[in-house]
Amino acid sequence: MAATGTVRMLEKFPQRNCLVVLNYHRIGSTSNTAGDPNLYSATPKDFEEQVRWLKWNYHISSLDEAIAFVEGKETFRRTGILLTFDDGYKDNYDYAFPILQRNKAQGTFFICTSYIGSSQLPWWDQIAYMLKNSKKAQIALNYPERLSFDLSSDWLQVLDHLLAIYKSGHELDKDKFLREIAIATGLGDHRPNQRIFIDKDELKEMSESGMAIGSHTHSHPLLSHLSQDDQLEEVVCSKRMLEEHLGIDIQSLAYPVGSPDSFDGRTQEVLCKAGYRIAFSFYGGSNVVGRTNPYDVRRHHVGIRDGEALFRVRTSTAAVIGSPLF
Ligand SMILES: [Zn+2]
Repeated sequence: MAATGTVRMLEKFPQRNCLVVLNYHRIGSTSNTAGDPNLYSATPKDFEEQVRWLKWNYHISSLDEAIAFVEGKETFRRTGILLTFDDGYKDNYDYAFPILQRNKAQGTFFICTSYIGSSQLPWWDQIAYMLKNSKKAQIALNYPERLSFDLSSDWLQVLDHLLAIYKSGHELDKDKFLREIAIATGLGDHRPNQRIFIDKDELKEMSESGMAIGSHTHSHPLLSHLSQDDQLEEVVCSKRMLEEHLGIDIQSLAYPVGSPDSFDGRTQEVLCKAGYRIAFSFYGGSNVVGRTNPYDVRRHHVGIRDGEALFRVRTSTAAVIGSPLF
C-alpha cells in the first residue's frame, strides 16, 4: 500500500471530527531488554518521525482538549491525535519526552504509582524474563492446570499464552502462578541493575515542562478482578499521590491492560466518585464527537514491528472513517 501511494491518497481525504488516541508503552530498542519485547512501540528515531508526520497532517491534541472534546465542549477542525504512554517506563523520560519537547507536542503519561523509581520488573516483564532466559527447552506447569510448553521454538508464543492466563481469571492466585513459572523455568525474581521506571524528579520535570500526567492505578491490577472498595482504593491512592507530588489535578486514568473485560460498570462508578473525568481503554477504535463514553475512550496500539507504512495507514483510516481499518 505504501508503494502504490495509497497512504498518500488517504492523507488527502477529508478528516473526520474525531479523536484518535495512540497508545505507546516503551520507546527504545528490543535488542537488550530484560523484559517483554512486545511492549516496545517505536525506536526513538521512528517515534520522532511519527510525531513530525502527525504534526504535519493532524492536530496533536492536549489532554485538556481531549477531555473537552469527549465532554462535547470542543470540536477539532482536523482530526485530533492524542499521544499516550502507559506504565511510566524510564525510557519515556529518556527518549519520548525530549522528542515531544523538541516538536512542541504534548504527551500524556499514565503512571502506575507503586512503580515510580522502581528497578523491579512488573509481572509481564518478569514472565518474559523467565521464559527468555530459561535453560530448559520444555517447561511444565502444575497451576492453574497441568500445562507444558516448548521453549525451543517460539518463546514469545508461550509468553502470549501465559500472559493471557494471568489476565483471564478472577479466581487465579497470581502470586502462586508466578511462583509456578519460576519453578518451571528454574529462574526466580530478577532485578535488573538499572532503574526501569521514571522517578519522582523526572516525573516532576515532565509535568512542569508541559507533559500531561494521568493515573494508571497504584499497583496495576485488572480492576474488574477487584471488589469495588479495592478498586476505589487503587484509583484514589494513585490520584492522591500524583496530586501531592505534582501539585496538579489528576483527572484521567488509563485502565491496566485496557481490554473490555479489564473494567466494568462498577469501575466507572468508582472513577466518577473519585473525581476522574476521563478514562482510556485499549482495544482499538476511535472517538466520534457526541458518541464517546468518557470512561471508555478508545485507543489503538502502536507496535515497533508495524513499520511506518502500517502506522500511517492505521492513523489515516482512523481519521477518514473514524476507526482504524488494520
Ligand atoms: Zn499498563
